Amino acid sequence: MRKTIIAGNWKMNKNIAEALELVKDLKIKLEGVADTEVVVCPPFLAVNAVSQLLKGSNIKVGAQNCYFEKKGAFTGEVSPAMLKEAGCAYVILGHSERRQYFKETNDFINKKVKAVLAEGLLPIICAGETLEEREKNIWKEVIKTQITGCLAGFTKEEVSKMVLAYEPVWAIGTGKVASKEQAQEVHKFIRDLVEKLYDKPVAEALRIQYGGSVKPDNVSILMNEPDIDGALVGGAALEADSFVKLVKFEKK
Ligand code: PEP
Repeated sequence: MRKTIIAGNWKMNKNIAEALELVKDLKIKLEGVADTEVVVCPPFLAVNAVSQLLKGSNIKVGAQNCYFEKKGAFTGEVSPAMLKEAGCAYVILGHSERRQYFKETNDFINKKVKAVLAEGLLPIICAGETLEEREKNIWKEVIKTQITGCLAGFTKEEVSKMVLAYEPVWAIGTGKVASKEQAQEVHKFIRDLVEKLYDKPVAEALRIQYGGSVKPDNVSILMNEPDIDGALVGGAALEADSFVKLVKFEKK
């Protein structure tokens, strides 16, 4: 049985005070939730303060990015070891905004995944097609290239620990959520691909989140699909009440 994982990607929102206010609320409202893994991913500057506040709670902390080197002359970058010390358990890698605005390639993301795992952190690796790629019906090739590139060179044990996130670019921040059929089709495609690259037990252990305009009114429909194991959430993770509703979605 794969444990559902709901993660909030706050992007470049919330200063330290605002971040603490939000997690104080989440800590109370999500107390006792055990059947779903909950992760919040604040901006770097708030990671440490948020981790301190959440110590001993059922909410884990993730970062939104990192660099692959351990340390050195890499101005402006943050290493996995620094994130671990600051209290992170997860790191989101390869988000479409990083691919689009910062020109991150699959090769580059692959190096970061390696560095994150080497530090004992867990990656949430994002993949997804643009609207143009969906309309041209080439999403399978696009996602295959992304997943194969990001996962290159890892052992079965390493892949089983990872979290993948299918995030259609056309659904991120647009309010245009994928239908449950569209999302399930891609999730199944990804799981089958991982089975071909590794084996069935690895594919079955792997958790695949859906991301893209997940809201309290559509979360349950998506999460009850057989190959959807959670959600990576942007906008609806910025308010305690909506994030709590997402975590406590109705299981059928
Ligand atoms: C995201 O950025 O990962 C995301 C899914 O955003 P939103 O939920 O706002 O579409």
